[in-house]
Amino acid sequence: MKIDPHAKFPTRECPGCAVEVPANENRCPVCGYEFPARGPLHRNLVWLVLLMLALLLIPLLLSMR
Ligand SMILES: [Zn+2]
Repeated sequence: MKIDPHAKFPTRECPGCAVEVPANENRCPVCGYEFPARGPLHRNLVWLVLLMLALLLIPLLLSMR
């Protein structure tokens, strides 16, 4: 299955076989690699990391005064 890299629809590169896969496909049609879901879970994880960084940095900033 050959996919035109200049196609108008968005694509992403498969880490398994480096083929351009349509962004709406969750699985690579060539090697079967499953893309990690980029949903609310991912967004929550980012906020969790930022919150933990803030919790680590705030006492550090307060102790520096
Ligand atoms: Zn692949």
